[in-house]
Amino acid sequence: MGRLEGKVALITGAGSGIGRASALRFAREGAAVAAVDIDRDAAAATIAEIEREGGQAVAIRADVSTAADNEAMVARTEEAFGRLDVLFLNAGIMHPDDSDAVGTDESIWDLTMDVNAKGVFLGCKYGIPALRRAGGGSIINTASFVAVMGAATPQIAYTASKGAVLALTRELAIVHAKENIRVNALCPGPLHTELLMKFLDTPEKKQRRLVHLPMGRFGEADEMAQAAVFLASDESSYVTGTEFMVDGGLSAAYVTAE
Ligand code: NAD
Repeated sequence: MGRLEGKVALITGAGSGIGRASALRFAREGAAVAAVDIDRDAAAATIAEIEREGGQAVAIRADVSTAADNEAMVARTEEAFGRLDVLFLNAGIMHPDDSDAVGTDESIWDLTMDVNAKGVFLGCKYGIPALRRAGGGSIINTASFVAVMGAATPQIAYTASKGAVLALTRELAIVHAKENIRVNALCPGPLHTELLMKFLDTPEKKQRRLVHLPMGRFGEADEMAQAAVFLASDESSYVTGTEFMVDGGLSAAYVTAE
């Protein structure tokens, strides 16, 4: 029996990277998956793969920075599968023009906060009533190691947005603890995905990150998906309010071994 048998999971950013890998894993573990993405084709490709493997899924196009789309994605999920048990608020952006405080345009700050931070708030605003209707559930918010560590490669808006995700997660966990709703932040280290590789677009930039990684390699999206399965499942029934670091030891390191 799958570890998520009988559960219904909504995953944002399910068209690529962590969200896509998680959608596939969740479905293999028995969950019915609502694969949400702003890119309709990408979400459709994810559910096509789930269906090929015999799993159950629907693709939903939504921009997580808007209230109307958040409300609609939750309604559509309940309509398709009758309930919602797991809310994996994972969609996020890292803008190429995000830099230091002096060099970052106000519009980049607003866009990044709208998707990464407001997206989590709105996902909870419309998702929590559905979790309540199901008698409880698990919320997983994707933050990042940059929420807890400073870096000399600046991305001021992204960093601030992920700090907001951690603070939101903590408060949500406490406020909803007695309702059987658990809320945890998944904090990935630097990953071998589109999002980061587009940003670290030269061998020098990649190397500058790799020297800080005790394991000497970037993480894989599927390694985040495996952590997300744990947080989504009843195996983590006493885990709430955590900053779940899945970072290859990055945040524990002062100097790494050769
Ligand atoms: P990705 O770019 O591969 O996937 C992100 C997905 O989100 C894309 O399919 C994109 O279309 C979708 N998306 C973007 N804006 C959206 C919006 N407004 N509404 C709905 N969907 C939207 O990225 P990823 O590496 O899988 O990142 C997933 C999450 O993990 C993000 O929150 C990111 O900040 C976080 N993260 C990534 C890394 C890394 O190194 N890749 C590290 C730490 C944290």
